[in-house]
Amino acid sequence: MKETNWIKAPIDTGAAPSCFCRRIPLREGLLRAELQVTAVGIFEARLDGVKLGHDVLAPGYTAYDKRLQYYTYDVTSAIHNDSLLEIAAGTGWAIGPFTYNMVQGLYHPNYAVNATLTLTYADGTEVLHTDESWQVYTSHVTFAGIYMGETVDYTAPIKLLGNAARDTAAAKFPLIPKEGEDVVENERIAPASLLVTPAGERVIDFGQNMTGYVELRRCGKPGERIRLSFGEVLDKDGNFYNANYRGALNDVLYVCDGTPRIFKPTFSFQGFRYVRLDEYPEDAVALDEFRAIAVHSALKRTGRFSCGNQKINQLYHNTLWGQKSNYLDLPTDCPQRNERLGWTGDAQVFCRTAAYNFDVKKFFKKWLGDMRAEQRDDGAIEGTVPSKPNKSRISAAWGDAATIIPWQLYLAYGDKTLLRENFDMMKKWVDFIHGSGKEEFLWLEGNHYGDWLAMDGDTDSYAGATSTDLIATAFFAYSTELVIKAGEVLGEDVTAYRSLYESVVRAFRSYFMENGYPREQLPRTVVLPEGKTPTDVLCRGNTQTALLLILHFGLCTEAERPKLLARLYELIAAFDGKMTTGFVGTPYLLHVLSDAGRLDLCYQLLLEERNPSWLYSVTHGATTMWEHWNSQKEDGSFWSTEMNSFNHYAYGAVCDWLYGVAAGISPVETAPGYKKIKLAPHPNRALGFVNCSLETAYGRIESNWYYKGEEIYYEFTVPAGCEATLTLPNGYTETLQGGSYHFTTTAV
Ligand code: BGC
Repeated sequence: MKETNWIKAPIDTGAAPSCFCRRIPLREGLLRAELQVTAVGIFEARLDGVKLGHDVLAPGYTAYDKRLQYYTYDVTSAIHNDSLLEIAAGTGWAIGPFTYNMVQGLYHPNYAVNATLTLTYADGTEVLHTDESWQVYTSHVTFAGIYMGETVDYTAPIKLLGNAARDTAAAKFPLIPKEGEDVVENERIAPASLLVTPAGERVIDFGQNMTGYVELRRCGKPGERIRLSFGEVLDKDGNFYNANYRGALNDVLYVCDGTPRIFKPTFSFQGFRYVRLDEYPEDAVALDEFRAIAVHSALKRTGRFSCGNQKINQLYHNTLWGQKSNYLDLPTDCPQRNERLGWTGDAQVFCRTAAYNFDVKKFFKKWLGDMRAEQRDDGAIEGTVPSKPNKSRISAAWGDAATIIPWQLYLAYGDKTLLRENFDMMKKWVDFIHGSGKEEFLWLEGNHYGDWLAMDGDTDSYAGATSTDLIATAFFAYSTELVIKAGEVLGEDVTAYRSLYESVVRAFRSYFMENGYPREQLPRTVVLPEGKTPTDVLCRGNTQTALLLILHFGLCTEAERPKLLARLYELIAAFDGKMTTGFVGTPYLLHVLSDAGRLDLCYQLLLEERNPSWLYSVTHGATTMWEHWNSQKEDGSFWSTEMNSFNHYAYGAVCDWLYGVAAGISPVETAPGYKKIKLAPHPNRALGFVNCSLETAYGRIESNWYYKGEEIYYEFTVPAGCEATLTLPNGYTETLQGGSYHFTTTAV
């Protein structure tokens, strides 16, 4: 592939995709034909009308100005003399409008394609590439944009626009071979029902919130139009609702031409459960013509969890679908509104759960490649990766994705290369924090997102009450600790980071703590989103999240733990037995409580159904995780239109506790990747039973338990060649080698 072979349409086509074509002359004796192809924008390559590869939305979303993936297809058996090679291309992430600022021309003003076809004969090799000899046609797709939707019009005449023009400006895109997982069509979902809403609108309910598109198989009369709008939820009156999509129109229009057709988007995707038929030619809707197709990275499922409580099973299901919906080539915050960005904080809090559910090693390897490419020279990591247009904050708990994700992947897969590849980035992030504040060992006065969407901030404010300085300095210590751990694994000299860690912990304790407690009021306020007024409530150190960070990151002494835990229990009790935590504190909540032996409180919080709780959304009909604890409030009204996704996986991070503590399967730092296993189930009668398994590189681990009368039965499977340290709730311990085991304890 050459960075000089870019071509574009001869005229400005705006949001209308085009098709770049040429015929391929072949000689006798072809041994191999290989196509390498990519686009600035989105492409679909076809040979004699047949799509190449099973991946969609190629070339995915990377930091294009630093790394743009090209795809390789072996076309030896499909190609013949005079075959027609076509590359359909449209705007995609690279051209826009994209990001919450709806930037047009984010990376480039127009879409462009680049392809090399290598024909290997016994007597030598011929190479054809994209140049001005290629012809450019209009397409039946007459309009497309990631956020805006797509028009597929089979009545639109196909016109020759002329020969392609060279796009010399596109030579700035560095090309790399594809690194990520294939993005493919996965589940096909039939309509669950057709609703006629109180407003008289016809709405198809697919029964599952998801990411992908709606396929229509129809032989419609020429000119018949089927226009679709997408939504995730119904409003309190049962009407179609999608004001929360903000600027993302998601307008999909299919126009028939009298021929049987399969309509579906090629250059866009939508996040939805409900589809409104804005235009449909008949009174009776032929529901069977519609299928929702879930599109996401082709990840191998590794973890399975089920229990005797249907609401917890639904929570688990919602988390899986949150991951599927938001793991479309990169980890995104949400799949529907004008965002769908690689938010680092969201990815960080969820990555441990993600690595239980699916094999995410290759998926993250690619995204961490973008993170390394986007890391600023001073070590800063933006709120989103890819980072363009660089308008997010450099925030603690977001940028810390740079240390947390490589470390969690190392624990899950035991692969040192992930640490090796990312070790410099990890150090540079910590060095950035070290050099960024006015105090060497504290991170003060940064512009952070804080305990995002926590319940203890101002009413309807995004930031929770916890001091952002405290959060930032706690994560400074934690990231430094992870650099030390990674360095030790890699045999690096981390002496300087050891002493930095000690200094940061010391500084944290003297600045944020007093008499073994976090200080109640801290010296400054957080930076709030526009339009919000800072109040002194927002700089507290005495919050559930502050206590969780101190306890979980080990910023206290052992002697201080009981007092801090007691304060945490008090704060939970003071909030009517519920949590107040947001994105930052929530992932650690149940872990801190179970580490302290308070399984009663863990299950109380896990099974809570009032707002805020994990089961609030479940009891309100959710099929994916919601962005806010109460995205739809008790009275059916919505949190806001501005920031209210119903497919945001962050709070699904609780599933790592279900796998790791309820079922009790977790990795061991000294022999990661589950060569050694910690087995420590924590049964609870309200769950009745748990069946849990995890496929690892060594084989399948199983942990099942169930109640029978006054006894609890346990079944474990340890893969051959592995060793598990079992601890049962009654304190019994045993080292298990590969094999299957049964135990019984008395239920307490
Ligand atoms: C996203 C979040 C993200 C946040 C930064 C939002 O717009 O949807 O999930 O982490 O911005 O606080």
